[in-house]
Amino acid sequence: MHELSIAHGIVDTVSTALGDTPGVVRDVSIAVGALSGVVPDALHFCFEIATADTRLSGATLSIEQVPVAIWCPTCAAVVEPPPPLSFRCPVCNTVSGDVRRGRELDVLSYTFDDEPALEGA
Ligand SMILES: [Zn+2]
Repeated sequence: MHELSIAHGIVDTVSTALGDTPGVVRDVSIAVGALSGVVPDALHFCFEIATADTRLSGATLSIEQVPVAIWCPTCAAVVEPPPPLSFRCPVCNTVSGDVRRGRELDVLSYTFDDEPALEGA
């Protein structure tokens, strides 16, 4: 499943970033482009599976959806084609394959409690 491998990737990214820092991850924010093919509901579901028994277990996943934006050479501007998904400038109708946004799949931020969990608490 596409989303499950992405969820594992998020866990790896945050775990690597934390390194040996003690603590438990509370929230993770990611940016997901409209062209990334990610289904947010499926990713939420897979995130729970992927984080089980990791330092991210129980963390909240926030997904920021990034609309597609293309460079229009005629307007010399970055424009956002309206849905449904197309690569046509909404101003002058020029078709452009120069995608500037919409392929994102990035971990934006995360928060964690740096207080080590108390044994048996
Ligand atoms: Zn244009």
